[in-house]
Amino acid sequence: MADVFYARGMFTSDALVDSAPLLLVGAGHSHLLTLRRWLDQGWRPPAGTLLVNPGEHAWYSGMMPGLLAGRHQVEECRIALQPLCAALDVRHLDASVVQLDAAAGQVLLRTGQSIKADCISLDCGAKPPSPQWLDTTVEKLPVKPFGILLQRWQQWRETGWPTRIGVLGGGAAAFEVCMALRAAGFAGELSLLTGSTLLADFPERLRERASALLRQRQVGLHELCMITTVRQYGVYDQQRRVLACEALVLASGAQAHGWQASSGLACDAQGFVRIGNDLRSRSHPQIFASGDCASLPGARRSGVYAVRQAPVLADNLRATLNGGRLSDYRPQRLALALLDCGNGQALLRYGSLGMAGGWCLRWKDRLDRRFIEGMRCPLPID
Ligand SMILES: Cc1cc2nc3c(=O)[nH]c(=O)nc-3n(C[C@H](O)[C@H](O)[C@H](O)COP(=O)(O)OP(=O)(O)OC[C@H]3O[C@@H](n4cnc5c(N)ncnc54)[C@H](O)[C@@H]3O)c2cc1C
Repeated sequence: MADVFYARGMFTSDALVDSAPLLLVGAGHSHLLTLRRWLDQGWRPPAGTLLVNPGEHAWYSGMMPGLLAGRHQVEECRIALQPLCAALDVRHLDASVVQLDAAAGQVLLRTGQSIKADCISLDCGAKPPSPQWLDTTVEKLPVKPFGILLQRWQQWRETGWPTRIGVLGGGAAAFEVCMALRAAGFAGELSLLTGSTLLADFPERLRERASALLRQRQVGLHELCMITTVRQYGVYDQQRRVLACEALVLASGAQAHGWQASSGLACDAQGFVRIGNDLRSRSHPQIFASGDCASLPGARRSGVYAVRQAPVLADNLRATLNGGRLSDYRPQRLALALLDCGNGQALLRYGSLGMAGGWCLRWKDRLDRRFIEGMRCPLPID
């Protein structure tokens, strides 16, 4: 590390501070593809560049339902960070950011270490929002981080499932998790709970198909219930007990990391970092944000959008470090969604178009495999 010095900023204590010319926070889709693009271009980020991400691997969410269902193997669905970082002389720190001082360009890690950087890029995703948990009678299992979800899922498979499981959320992830639970052999009571309706933004025919699949697999569907609290082996909409269960899987959408809103960065009402089309923070141009942690009109929170932001992010970070011109990302109007039904079939949605079948799953698998290979570090050629 080039410099080590002491600094006092937003953080409460004097802390030993490392410095970096570029700090990448989170190994999300945009950052992985950024690193891969630089590698393919033969460009190296400046010496001392850091990637902070908890864990040695980045998980690919598109293949998660297939992995949970037992259709994929672990190594097929994750990317080892070390080879990719090593190929670019980027240092990977196995840690999480817990605070950001945007004005000082400084982050605090859970380990207590601080890092001050000339340029920071955030691609650290989001986590599912949670109702209030009032006791420990119901186990809480958020779908992210994937590593923890998978570990617990495997324990359940090996040592026995809870008797009754609820899945909170009405979107694609919640539906896929329910179907994966059945495919993985969970035969107990299973229910999906959503504050809106199932797959609310999907075409009518697909919504009906999804509801029919849930019925076939004996998954209870509770729509229009706002789950506020979890207690006494049950989940509640205010005082009304909606479901009795021993475990609740949270697939309830995206909630911003709390430290984003307290960082001084311009954020939207939900705490997501407001960015312009060049992917820079609206308030702090030396800070970039992409993927689920960012807020940009027209861009939705899904991997597809994070992926499309990657080439612009890679080029704009490079231009910022080298003094070049920045380009703009334009969110696509429509994005392809392919939902693994856990029965050898997938649901396909593209705008108002909806289809289903085995060929949709085969197509999904082909796209997923091609995509994840595109993020890995290629093997060196002898
Ligand atoms: C079950 C499931 C299936 C899905 N399937 C699809 C799909 O098929 N297609 C699709 O488009 N979208 C899908 N999604 C949505 C998709 O997962 C997200 O939209 C996408 O992963 C967002 O990518 P990202 O680049 O924002 O970051 P992410 O992929 O979320 O990665 C964020 C990274 O940041 C790291 N991180 C988190 N907190 C910190 C911190 N404090 N400090 C440092 N690092 C941190 C994490 O460990 C992670 O590596 C699915 C989601 C789920 C839950």
